[in-house]
Amino acid sequence: MASLSLQHITKKYPNGFEAVKDFNLEIADKEFIIFVGPSGCGKSTTLRMIAGLEEISGGTLKIGDKVVNDVEPKDRDIAMVFQNYALYPHMTVYDNMAFGLKLRKVPKDQIDKMVKEAAKILDLEKLLDRKPKALSGGQRQRVAMGRAIVREPKVFLMDEPLSNLDAKLRVQMRTEISKLHERLGATIIYVTHDQTEAMTLGTRIVVMKDGVVQQVDTPKNLYDNPCNLFVAGFIGSPQMNFLDAVCHVKGEDVTLQIGKTTLAVPASKKKALIDGGYDGKTVVLGIRPEHVSDEQMAIASHPESVIEGDITVYELLGAEVYLYFDIEGFHLTARVNPRTTARTGDKVKFALDMEKIHVFDKETELVIA
Ligand code: ATP
Repeated sequence: MASLSLQHITKKYPNGFEAVKDFNLEIADKEFIIFVGPSGCGKSTTLRMIAGLEEISGGTLKIGDKVVNDVEPKDRDIAMVFQNYALYPHMTVYDNMAFGLKLRKVPKDQIDKMVKEAAKILDLEKLLDRKPKALSGGQRQRVAMGRAIVREPKVFLMDEPLSNLDAKLRVQMRTEISKLHERLGATIIYVTHDQTEAMTLGTRIVVMKDGVVQQVDTPKNLYDNPCNLFVAGFIGSPQMNFLDAVCHVKGEDVTLQIGKTTLAVPASKKKALIDGGYDGKTVVLGIRPEHVSDEQMAIASHPESVIEGDITVYELLGAEVYLYFDIEGFHLTARVNPRTTARTGDKVKFALDMEKIHVFDKETELVIA
């Protein structure tokens, strides 16, 4: 069993800096877990504590049923793949992959079998005699993976393994890592600062900020139901639009006012605003670019949710157009159909899909509705 349990894990560096605060997470066997967050949020520190490369300041780390806080890295049954591959330049691909096994005095014929099996999985069979300098970035990355695979660890730890690759190769390797996860049936913990990578790879994602876990969820739930402003803004590209709005409650009617514009809050979102006592208070309205439409049909059928903005940038991306526009001093983005006639400088009406809005408390930044 390669489940992991992180209970109240903290990391305080010798200079007193608390890089990880009360980290709690249960990782199931065979899960593909992603740690994501901006630079410095404590992702790598957490991963390095799991690897045993960094001392744990507080809390309990279990791999399977065993507490491993004080277990040597080599005895934890884990393999780590780093962003800089760290291949031995003077060794062939074969020897790079075999090296760790030789150190562990694994019999030669068994090493040969394990290296060849890993090479097959990673499509490296034809490259086994080459030295790293004669490989592409993606091939080197696969060798680094191969070196981890041959050890047959229960848990793979990967720290930004694709960050040195160009954009196209990253997408390609992403698919390969997903396939690898299925073939190996191993538990993978993967660190990235790239939310797109997190969303496409993980079965569950841990979003971190300033050493604190913000939300642990499936990619879809993170996108649809972010728990606070930070997660809402971090997940999704282009990012969610945010506007300050004053909430007004009159009996059963709830509206959000942005300058001169008044938007009607749908029934599904009303209760939380009424019960939370938000009448007269400023809240933050969040809406994703794909839920802002410039289509006439949407505008005509939802007059209670129309805003008018000045287009500052028109951006054609082939299958879709991003319209960047300003309203009441806020900068918003709409993802619209390329058929749109709107262009930079135009004043344009947009309908907001109010069922899809998110409302956040301006003080606590937590989601209200
Ligand atoms: P990145 O994406 O940039 O690698 P990260 O989320 O992985 O960031 P960590 O490397 O875990 O972040 O670092 C978390 C915080 O701990 C950072 O603010 C960093 O400056 C700090 N830190 C890391 N190592 C040490 C150290 N040895 N002593 C003191 N502070 C440290």
